[in-house]
Amino acid sequence: MTPSPAPGAARVLVRKLREITNTSDTAQAKLNRLVTMIASTMVADVCSIYLKRGIIHELFATEGLKPEAVHRTRLKENEGLVGLVAETARPLNIADAPHHSRFSYRPETGEDPFNAFLGVPIVRSERVFGVLVVQNRASRVYSEEEVESLQIVAMVLMEMVAAGSFGDLSGLQEVEVRPSRPERLVGRAFADGLAIGRAVLHEPHAPLGRAFSDDPVKEEARLDAALARVRKTIDEHIESDPGRLSGQSREVLETFRMLANDHSWEARLKRGVRDGLSAEAAAERARAEHRAKMQAARDAYMRDQMHDLEDLDNRLMRALASPEGDDKLSLPEDAILIARDIGPAELLDYGADRLKGVALEEGGASSHATIIAKALGIPMVGRLTQIGARVEAGDRIVLDGERGEARLRPEPEVVVAYEQRLELRSAQAEEFARQRDDPAVTRDGAEISLLLNAGLMLDVQHLADTAAKGIGLFRTEFQFMVSERLPRTSEQIKLYSDVLAAAGDRPVTFRTLDVGGDKVLSYVPTEREENPALGWRALRIGLERPALLRTQVRALIEAAEGRRLRVMFPLVTVPQEFIDAREIVEKELAVAQARGRKGPAKLEVGVMIEAPAIAFAIGMLAGKADFLSIGTNDLMQYFFAADRSNPRVADRYDILSAPALKFLRFIREQAAEAGMPLSVCGEAAGKPLEAMTLIALGYDRLSMPAAGIGPVKRMLRSLDAQAAHAELESLLKSHNTSLRPELSAWAKREGVAL
Ligand code: PEP
Ligand code: MG
Repeated sequence: MTPSPAPGAARVLVRKLREITNTSDTAQAKLNRLVTMIASTMVADVCSIYLKRGIIHELFATEGLKPEAVHRTRLKENEGLVGLVAETARPLNIADAPHHSRFSYRPETGEDPFNAFLGVPIVRSERVFGVLVVQNRASRVYSEEEVESLQIVAMVLMEMVAAGSFGDLSGLQEVEVRPSRPERLVGRAFADGLAIGRAVLHEPHAPLGRAFSDDPVKEEARLDAALARVRKTIDEHIESDPGRLSGQSREVLETFRMLANDHSWEARLKRGVRDGLSAEAAAERARAEHRAKMQAARDAYMRDQMHDLEDLDNRLMRALASPEGDDKLSLPEDAILIARDIGPAELLDYGADRLKGVALEEGGASSHATIIAKALGIPMVGRLTQIGARVEAGDRIVLDGERGEARLRPEPEVVVAYEQRLELRSAQAEEFARQRDDPAVTRDGAEISLLLNAGLMLDVQHLADTAAKGIGLFRTEFQFMVSERLPRTSEQIKLYSDVLAAAGDRPVTFRTLDVGGDKVLSYVPTEREENPALGWRALRIGLERPALLRTQVRALIEAAEGRRLRVMFPLVTVPQEFIDAREIVEKELAVAQARGRKGPAKLEVGVMIEAPAIAFAIGMLAGKADFLSIGTNDLMQYFFAADRSNPRVADRYDILSAPALKFLRFIREQAAEAGMPLSVCGEAAGKPLEAMTLIALGYDRLSMPAAGIGPVKRMLRSLDAQAAHAELESLLKSHNTSLRPELSAWAKREGVAL
């Protein structure tokens, strides 16, 4: 059996590494000494360094393979075991390399007799720059400590690459460790807006040139101080306000506290520091391990735990980066947050004041963080491949939430162009603010009610800056979605009464919980469905599992004590569903009254028109429902049979097409006949051309995101609604499918401000 290195080998290794890196040798000489030293310290028969040059891994130094192979053995990016290590960015530790399916035989290296193989990536923030390998003749699996030691050496190599130590090695200048060139990454726009700012990394990189510490004792003190701060922040979170808007529950924080006090986590970090690593390098190493374990874990609990540990590693790295600041970091004035993905609570933790935008590697259009970003009014762009690895803290970033792209370290011309676009946007915003109190009346005197769509307390402030007439759609599920457990009844009551208080005399229409489909609550176990949008969602859940709906209705009734309460139900498909839902409301009202409560001063209960079927049953709702509101997002999804969250089909069909507009005209006529008030609360209501067309169809209550109110009001004040109606009626007789071009041309001719 091959002897294992003695315990404490890592420390010896670090010392020897420092000696080698501190010499004035050429890079090649340093590499040669390095491989010899590693092979002897680790009692390995072979030690080799492969560095990535373009899409090739080239052997740069070896002890044990034939020296002639150096700079001659070149493996394709994904070739062989070396390629596998690079591809997965994780160590590979196997006893019988030649029988591995990815083994690639290179005769020039003379490596036939080596069975044991340990390869670790030379990696920095997930970018792989090469692979470091040791091999032994005997068939064996390397110990955890050996893997660790080799990872330390890989870190040092990374530092050498970073320091440009290989500049004198042929053609390696293209290894760009600190990205410096302008790059344009195209992703997907999740929240609208533009921002120019400086990158703040949610998952910080260890600073270059600081893999080692000169003084392990001092370094351990730094680590202790940072650990203490991380723990203190978590304690403070637990003690402060567990039910705050971010909804990070006590249970989650308690788990977090437990992990933060976990002995093995701390011991592992300390061992690294005592071995001579800097605290950041030790934390980064821990993070890489947790991430690798998380990716490999099949068990959901284990994955969650590794995810939490990774989160703690990040917190620790942030604490190390800003020893004076608190956990929120001292953000620059114009911070653009870069993250792999982010939860709603974490996003809120950064605070709204300095955060100018969010760029994510992952993320989703209807994710909870997206909801928060929209409420904060900052752009968010997701699906930006590898952005975390391509940006360093402090890099200048332009984030374009209109087009869904990010410009990293942009050229000055690009910055100027974006500054102009930003100026234009802010000039428009100022203009809208000036017109805040202008009445929403068309040129020919039709009064249009402009209402706000909201879902969080953060949105409600827009009532004041837009002078909206009320909240036409309050999406109650947002509170549930940004929370990590079911919000308590008391928390629901608090939110609803806060919203009502902020709205004052203005009416608020609460839409009951609309989950299922793409709106998933992590704490409510649901079955996977083939077609979630057509499945068990919205009111269907509410009626079948009425406990949730009942609690919510109770909370609404209590919050609206003595005030006007408007409640509407999502995705009513047949009248009976509404009748059943209304019965729940009436029952809860009776219960409240039996308990001696006054109840709301006025109660109105409405139906959302989202399923085409209910549009043909409006007459049957007369006398039963108090109002109707069209959710065009869902109505159009079902009308066109096109998934609203699937980018391949979402924009394929146009609401401004004759069939859809005839359908909307039909609904309006039906509502008029039934004598029921009708509004539109889907996204279409907030877009000027669409809103113009809705007004032409006779709609006069439009509920929309805050950003839509200014542009829609400007449009309608320049519109002759009668003339628009006449034009639309004649266009609807034509055979054209999409009327968008004709409608915009007409608006232009008539001087409608779109
Ligand atoms: C809609 O479907 O148009 C709507 C307003 O509801 P949501 O977007 O929340 O599904
Ligand atoms: Mg809907």
